Amino acid sequence: MKIKRDDLIHPVISGNKWRKLSSLLSSVPQGAKGIVSFGGGFSNHVHALAYCCKSLDLPFIAIIRGNYQQNLTPMLRDISAWGAQIIYVDRVTYQRRNDADYLNELSTQYKGYAIIPEGGSHIDAMHGVAKIVQEIEWNFDAIVTPVASGATLAGIAQSINADQQAIGIAVLKGEEYLESLVQNFMVQPNDNWHIEHAFHHGRYAKITPELQSFCSELHKKYGIPTEGVYSGKLFFALKEMLAAGTFSQGQKILVLHTGGMQGARQY
Ligand SMILES: *Cc1c(COP(=O)(O)O)cnc(C)c1O
Repeated sequence: MKIKRDDLIHPVISGNKWRKLSSLLSSVPQGAKGIVSFGGGFSNHVHALAYCCKSLDLPFIAIIRGNYQQNLTPMLRDISAWGAQIIYVDRVTYQRRNDADYLNELSTQYKGYAIIPEGGSHIDAMHGVAKIVQEIEWNFDAIVTPVASGATLAGIAQSINADQQAIGIAVLKGEEYLESLVQNFMVQPNDNWHIEHAFHHGRYAKITPELQSFCSELHKKYGIPTEGVYSGKLFFALKEMLAAGTFSQGQKILVLHTGGMQGARQY
């Protein structure tokens, strides 16, 4: 078993959010006035994108679900310091984030701005995700990654060889729904991937005391930092799958640490 530490690729813009943004930002039209995107109050995507925008000197408008005005999260504090403009919306408005009419309204309101979907999850982000696989020199049999929007798993599944497997660990309850999301991100759908659904620990961002202590122990024993939303669930699942004999003897497993440590600063 080997671990690819995409949590270490940059001190701020870690993991799979950089992989996706590297593609998406290069397809933003020249002369765009700025970027608009969406996320929750702890979003790794919004955090990474705000830092990129600051570095590129591009104005950034972050549409945030919930009202944290009186109680900024560490993520929101960072992005304000980097010059992002934060707009708080309620859950009902936030639910419209992918609706054509809402996106039209935003385009009118923020003329000349490029709109990037939540999580940077868009079919145009697949090139960046493919780089994860291109960088691996080890001939692994299976690669394991957490799954939320499905874009990362999709990008990986379509860039591995036909004799390799991609295994997603669902970090939220989403049997069937997650599979269809992954399929929708794939340009050339194939069936060398599947999702394990037994390790979401209740729901998205639900961190049980058991999971929390697993993360601390992993850090103490192996020096690998994880957080409970994504990477903690990934490694916990691996432990359980190894114990259950899910993998065959000698199977070469590549574990992808997708980063996201900034989101854990609240805990
Ligand atoms: C967003 C995120 C994921 C999930 O990636 P998807 O492409 O949405 O499935 C996994 N790990 C980390 C650290 C993330 O921030």
